[in-house]
Amino acid sequence: MLGGMDVDEFRRLGHQLIEEIAEYRQRLEEAPEGLAVMSQVAPGEIRARFAAEPPLEGGGLAAALPAIGRDLLPGITHWNHPSFFAYFPSNTSLASILGDLVCAGLGAQGMSWQTSPSATELEEVVVDWLRQMLGLSDAFSGVVHDTASTATLCALLCARERTSGFSQRAGGMQGHAGGPLIVYASDQAHSSIEKAALLAGFGKAHLRLIETDDDHSLRVDLLEAAIEEDLAAGRRPCAIVAACGTTATTALDPVNAIAELAGRHDLWLHLDAAMAGSAMILPECRWMWEGVARADSVVINPHKWMGIGFDFTLYLVRDPQHLVRVMGTNPSYLHTSHDQTARNLRDWGIPLGRRFRALKAWMVIVDQGVAGLAARLRRDLDNARWLAVQLDEAPGWQRLAPVPLQTLCVRHVPAHLEHEGRTDEAALTQHNLRIAERINRSGKAYLTPSLLKGRQMLRLSIGAELTERRHVEALWQLLRDTAAER
Ligand code: PLP
Repeated sequence: MLGGMDVDEFRRLGHQLIEEIAEYRQRLEEAPEGLAVMSQVAPGEIRARFAAEPPLEGGGLAAALPAIGRDLLPGITHWNHPSFFAYFPSNTSLASILGDLVCAGLGAQGMSWQTSPSATELEEVVVDWLRQMLGLSDAFSGVVHDTASTATLCALLCARERTSGFSQRAGGMQGHAGGPLIVYASDQAHSSIEKAALLAGFGKAHLRLIETDDDHSLRVDLLEAAIEEDLAAGRRPCAIVAACGTTATTALDPVNAIAELAGRHDLWLHLDAAMAGSAMILPECRWMWEGVARADSVVINPHKWMGIGFDFTLYLVRDPQHLVRVMGTNPSYLHTSHDQTARNLRDWGIPLGRRFRALKAWMVIVDQGVAGLAARLRRDLDNARWLAVQLDEAPGWQRLAPVPLQTLCVRHVPAHLEHEGRTDEAALTQHNLRIAERINRSGKAYLTPSLLKGRQMLRLSIGAELTERRHVEALWQLLRDTAAER
């Protein structure tokens, strides 16, 4: 048949694959120790298992499927493993998997309302549900993007256009009058902020990374001084990116005080709540972003900690008309008779073509409910607090940052180094890197070795759906055992 397998074959293989995915998930749940959390393959090993050239004749998919378990599984790092403590939790709930399956099955393309009304309207529903779940007022509306990086780029493009009086419709960044536009963030801001500032044409020389305090939060006094210095020099302060949950330590920038400054100087305030945003489902966490109501834009990654599989990013704005003015396109082949009455979400972001991402979010939310999601987040926060207490009470362990959420930044100072008077940075770095390497190579758990203001640390991020207290206890034991090895 031209076009590939017929529907009967699809049904048969589809059932088989669902069965295999279910078995894999069951393994993660019931016998996770049989799977190395971090893939142990060497670069090139997986590629070498596949033919260098494409097959001229198809042999049918059924014959090729064993390659998934045999050739691909060894090269998978198991993000949904209960002992995954690296980077950030990126849970793909079972309901989310089904959402992606239906998304692919329907093959909908949501560039305009008319090209799949359900894709647009369910996205509107889900975005508004999420807004309510996070405790935000209906002054915010929004859209789903792939990643926080994309959303932050959109935010800085909108900021640039507001401050420059829509320079894009004239000479662009090359032609606008006045001094250079300046973007501010903290020295703990995620690399996507710098990337967005560079891609949006601000130039590295016009990105100010403001120093942070001992808790790694942006220092507002220094921010204010930097804005005033730029104004005095004839430059044009344009945007501030504040973080609610920095990447290294989940530090919280003082949003209220920053919003005050932004308001005073008419600066765009973008809030990067990629990591902490999910926790705002919990009313007891909302103090962490107090002042959010005054942000011009907010980005949250439900694909990090809410169970909605990668990729799914929520981008909320207070002035959607401005967003559409910056992002909108209107070629004649896209005109429809509904353009005045319905949203065309292509005008709310960069890509024209849009996946039906809202499906998986809808499925996760109806499956678990707000209460179910909240209960899991509370469990993770509680596990992080428990581990923080163990670390604080154990001799030889240092915690390098507060633990407002589920990430712990720690390091071990071994007694023999202390006795030998060798607690210099180089010796500590070597010792802690060795702990990380041994744990990650053991396949028993996966954590991230990282630097915090020049100090080597072990970063432990708790929050996989399957991670229970016993897995955190096992991690703590593993850390102590590995640290004691010579
Ligand atoms: N912002 C923060 C605070 C992050 O921690 C991350 C990723 O870890 C990002 C932005 C970028 O996220 P994405 O991969 O969705 O672009």
